[in-house]
Amino acid sequence: MIITRPRDWDRVRAQIADLGATSVFIMGCGQCATVANTGGEAEILAAKERLEADGVTVTGWSVGEVACHAGGQRLEARKHAGELEAADAVLVLACGAGVQTMADATTKPVTPGLESVFLGNVVRHGVFEERCQMCGDCVLDRTAGICPVTACPKGLLNGPCGGMWDGMCEVLTDRECTHVAIRRRLAEQNRSKAGAPLPPKDYSKKLKPGRVDIRADRKRTGEGR
Ligand code: SF4
Ligand code: SF4
Repeated sequence: MIITRPRDWDRVRAQIADLGATSVFIMGCGQCATVANTGGEAEILAAKERLEADGVTVTGWSVGEVACHAGGQRLEARKHAGELEAADAVLVLACGAGVQTMADATTKPVTPGLESVFLGNVVRHGVFEERCQMCGDCVLDRTAGICPVTACPKGLLNGPCGGMWDGMCEVLTDRECTHVAIRRRLAEQNRSKAGAPLPPKDYSKKLKPGRVDIRADRKRTGEGR
């Protein structure tokens, strides 16, 4: 899921002032931002209270099913057409993808209320960890399911670096060095040979900007006919 953090409220307040908005519609997200406790109903109601304390009218609010779904967001916009029409701007409590989806679904100026920080695993309620940076050329088959690009603070594909000490990371000193962890797990799985140095990654596989069209791909390759 996409991990978001609340944006500093003074900055949000300044964004709304810059737009000259005296009325706002608030849009959240029923998926990632709800799980991250940044853009669910509770956070929207808290934002509403803050806006109203600042003298801004909140014309309405919504937590759509998933803020980054174009069709779903258009549907939410239609459901709340009157409240949106009455607002000078839309404050979106969702990741950057959700903000842009909303910007496509309305003619009103849209402004972000969150910071999008990483693609995260849910470790337990309220605790998230980055495990993948979506590099497009996965090496987990060679690294015993531990991502060196993400887990090593230096992003080293091969390691350990010269700063590793007694198996621990020199940057995050309370953590085991990622490359030590990889080697240990490979040894436990009798796969030590897999620990040979990895070749440079093919970063051209990282789509930027990313766009995948499954139907067009199938048509091109003839698959799924
Ligand atoms: S190697 Fe790339 S795709 Fe695989 S987990 Fe790491 S960042 Fe993600
Ligand atoms: S000690 Fe290991 S995990 Fe830490 S920065 Fe060096 S190689 Fe990366």
